[in-house]
Amino acid sequence: KVVTRFAPSPTGFLHIGGARTALFNWLYARHTGGTMLLRIEDTDRERSTDAATAAILEGLSWLGLKWEGDPVSQYERAGRHREVAEELVGLGKAYYCYATPAELEEMREKARAEGRPPRYDGRWRDRDPSEAPEGVPGAIRIKAPTEGETLVRDLVQGDVRFPNKDLDDFIILRSDGNPTYMHAVVVDDHDMGVTHIIRGDDHLTNAARQTIIYDAMGWQVPEMAHIPLIHGADGAKLSKRHGALGVEAYRAMGYLPEALLNYLARLGWSHGDDEVMSIAQMTEWFDITDVNKGAARFDFAKLEALNGIHMRSMDDAALTEALLSALPYLPDGEALATGFDDAARERLLRAMPGLKDRAKTLIELADNTYYLTARRPLQLDEKATTILDDAARAVLKDVLTRFQDISEWNAQTTEAAIREYAESSGLKLGKIAQPLRAALTGRATSPGVFDVLDVLGREESLARIGDQID
Ligand code: GLU
Repeated sequence: KVVTRFAPSPTGFLHIGGARTALFNWLYARHTGGTMLLRIEDTDRERSTDAATAAILEGLSWLGLKWEGDPVSQYERAGRHREVAEELVGLGKAYYCYATPAELEEMREKARAEGRPPRYDGRWRDRDPSEAPEGVPGAIRIKAPTEGETLVRDLVQGDVRFPNKDLDDFIILRSDGNPTYMHAVVVDDHDMGVTHIIRGDDHLTNAARQTIIYDAMGWQVPEMAHIPLIHGADGAKLSKRHGALGVEAYRAMGYLPEALLNYLARLGWSHGDDEVMSIAQMTEWFDITDVNKGAARFDFAKLEALNGIHMRSMDDAALTEALLSALPYLPDGEALATGFDDAARERLLRAMPGLKDRAKTLIELADNTYYLTARRPLQLDEKATTILDDAARAVLKDVLTRFQDISEWNAQTTEAAIREYAESSGLKLGKIAQPLRAALTGRATSPGVFDVLDVLGREESLARIGDQID
């Protein structure tokens, strides 16, 4: 059975690239009937706060990327990491090194002078443990092979070979007893029963070093898939100057989780010409071996367009629910949310067909809902105030009279009444619709005015018009 894992370092938010890594792990696990585990790589105690971990869990939950069981804390497993490091010493596959900081600096200096990457020179590799200086704690280094090459069989990158002369005897346990990241990952992945490691290709070199630890323990190396990182439109690695990096920012921009997942899945992976996919389709179609090697470029316009498509593909009730539950996370959404009492919620549902075909994000959708929650007398914005001059008020008076005669109130009957009025008065339709819109919504733009009349109903519509002519 396939077991994948997502192993973020808690740095304050769920990175958008991390979200895609999680998505690929999740899709692959679901596609194969396996499970995805979650491990928080919180060994850096300075940066790893509870809030940072909570932000990751929140981001994953919002996206619906469910992991199995409790999240594993890497930090809490330090004892086990130490145990395995010591076991490797016992097996003769690792050794204590007592090189001083000054000695190590000297090695680095030498490498710099020779223009090559720094490399530990192996000075404690074959020394007898009895030579250990007294009272000085040593670090544990792995005895890496010195000849030949280490092969990483990657499901995305293909076979990648690393000459062993480039991989030195790296530290697995620091002299303070704490594991290095390299070692902790191997021990955790092994103990968690991970069968497939899917992560960013910035970890490819680590994969070679980790393979050396697996081999030394006689453990089977999991399948590996190093996926390309996300780049900005200019081709540089995605960074702040390209746009938001944290997933919560995308939530605040009014994207649907389904749309964001669809977009992220398409960054580096494709299924024929399919652009728009449901989660069920992605799950069915996704295979890790179909992920491209090349970096994918983040395109905000595409994400927005995709979001609009996903919004329109939802049924009105689902989209109404999605909007209401997203409101607290949108800018100024909290205030808007308090306006949605039962009556306003019901109006929102009825207004949705008119609202959704003009919005690409939930923010745009929310923007057009002001009229649903507004209380009489409406607060008009500047443009609406300008529209409602004396001439416009006179028009509204006529409209009010004609509306009073309508027996069955809906979009068609109100439209017919307005058209009749336009014809008999010689006024252009816009000259009537604009004041009407301003009076009903307090704004100069809104969904179609006849939809607005329908949604508000007779009583509320007539009252709002009346408010502007008194
Ligand atoms: N914690 C690492 C990161 O956030 C991932 C390590 C791994 O997946 O092996 O980049």
